[in-house]
Amino acid sequence: MRCDDERVSLYRDTGVVLRVQKLGEADRIVTLLTRRHGRVRAVAKGVRRTTSRFGARLEPFGHVDVQCYTGRTLDVVTQVVTVDGFGARLVADYGRYTTGCAVLETAERLAGAEGEPVLRLYLLVVGALRALADGQRDTSLVLDAFLLRAMTAAGWAPALSECARCARPGPHRAFSIPAGGSMCGGCRPAGSATPSPETLRLLQALVDGDWPVAESTPRTARREGSGLVAAHLQWHLERQLRSLPLVERRAPGGTVETG
Ligand SMILES: [Zn+2]
Repeated sequence: MRCDDERVSLYRDTGVVLRVQKLGEADRIVTLLTRRHGRVRAVAKGVRRTTSRFGARLEPFGHVDVQCYTGRTLDVVTQVVTVDGFGARLVADYGRYTTGCAVLETAERLAGAEGEPVLRLYLLVVGALRALADGQRDTSLVLDAFLLRAMTAAGWAPALSECARCARPGPHRAFSIPAGGSMCGGCRPAGSATPSPETLRLLQALVDGDWPVAESTPRTARREGSGLVAAHLQWHLERQLRSLPLVERRAPGGTVETG
């Protein structure tokens, strides 16, 4: 141990491993979404050696208790205890695995600045991974429910019943992503979509956690709903990227590295 004037501060937290990157010969940089510290990037030293005590716990989808100390540039992981091993149950099913990857990727993009607490998002990620690992619910409904609620937590909830512009109570036929969702006949801009009433009911059910309604929705409405949710998310993420300074921009389409 080095002994100098650098003050070492330790902290513990619970988090989900969002991403893992190689660092040098034996180390990894682990990105976690934690309960109390929001997004955290920390170095896990020696985890790529076969003798590592906690390498396998720090894989994407791992829900872990970690102890870290605050480093000069990156924090350093010193202890890891597994809370839930979602990864093993997800990698066994390709559809659930890729959906889980979409949850992790979206969570990282919505988490905001490092160290900024995003408790609601953390709870939504754990809930979505647990539902995917349990395998009881339809995979794409789990994803759309997660995306809608995560966007709501980020302040990007689409208007589903009232008009997004004048708040006139609906339901309304028109839907415009740039305008913020449902639009009444008087406000609807040119080029608005006209999703079916079942689709809007489905999206509301997913926001409310009303699974009996969501699961009884016909397939065509589920497909239409997924398309609207994905387009709404994409529109807001692109707007968010444009509002960031150049240095903070990340390459699009980053994937979870499991190696
Ligand atoms: Zn209106």
